[in-house]
Amino acid sequence: MIGCHLSVAGGLHHALVEAAALKLECVQVFTQNQRQWKARRLTREALDLWRRRRVARRPVVSHAGYLINLAAADPALRRRSIAALRSELRRCEALGIGVLVLHGGAHNGAGEAHGLDRVIRSINRVHRGLPDGSTVLCLETTAGAGTTLCGTLEHLAFIRRNVDEPGRVGVCLDTAHLFAAGYDLSGAAQTQDTLQRCEAVLGWDAVRAAHINDSKTPLGSRRDRHEHIGHGHIPLEAFAEVVNHAYLRTIPLILETPKAVAPDGRSWDEVNLAVLRGLLE
Ligand SMILES: [Zn+2]
Ligand SMILES: [Zn+2]
Repeated sequence: MIGCHLSVAGGLHHALVEAAALKLECVQVFTQNQRQWKARRLTREALDLWRRRRVARRPVVSHAGYLINLAAADPALRRRSIAALRSELRRCEALGIGVLVLHGGAHNGAGEAHGLDRVIRSINRVHRGLPDGSTVLCLETTAGAGTTLCGTLEHLAFIRRNVDEPGRVGVCLDTAHLFAAGYDLSGAAQTQDTLQRCEAVLGWDAVRAAHINDSKTPLGSRRDRHEHIGHGHIPLEAFAEVVNHAYLRTIPLILETPKAVAPDGRSWDEVNLAVLRGLLE
């Protein structure tokens, strides 16, 4: 199912109104300002407006804030991250959002093993504090820049294997991040190979959502720059493999491409959606 990340400016329900207008099959939102620690208070009015616009057949994915770093070596930052993630999950539960996407964090020089261990222990603490949650926390594949974790599928598999409650932890793939991290999507055959590797390392049941972005930077560049579909280094044949894949076509595939007006006067979201839909067989 194909959708977009949409803005919640003016209220969370605005994303649902726009999703309907764009005829999306799924939608992704931030349930709070993604660059701040301070959590948005979910008022009864906001919840009512949300529920009124919510349609069961259009799944919603939430993306967690960017400040959260479960791998942080600084204990104060890790505690703050754990509290913020719990609050993200609580908002998802209140809003009936089944999937929360989170960046794995960065070890800031402490080393990958220490970073992964801190992520695992932090997730366990988050889950112990929310024993009845049903929202699945999905760690996202990253471009692997600097000391960022989860630039390899093995990191994601390792975290899932070692958390106390693996059923509450999933994965969100991102085509631009995979490509920048060195996973080849430069043609149909290469994409089939990369997707087979995803299945072999993670298993499809772990993958609950994917971000569909073209990459402004080349294969293995380790730089995360999203581009409009068909305008970057990933060819349309690769996107066709993804959107028509027997498993991937059944989960939310979310565009996170730049927002603006395209040269033909349509919004870029409309243009990118039309390109992806045109690839469907
Ligand atoms: Zn992300
Ligand atoms: Zn990205």
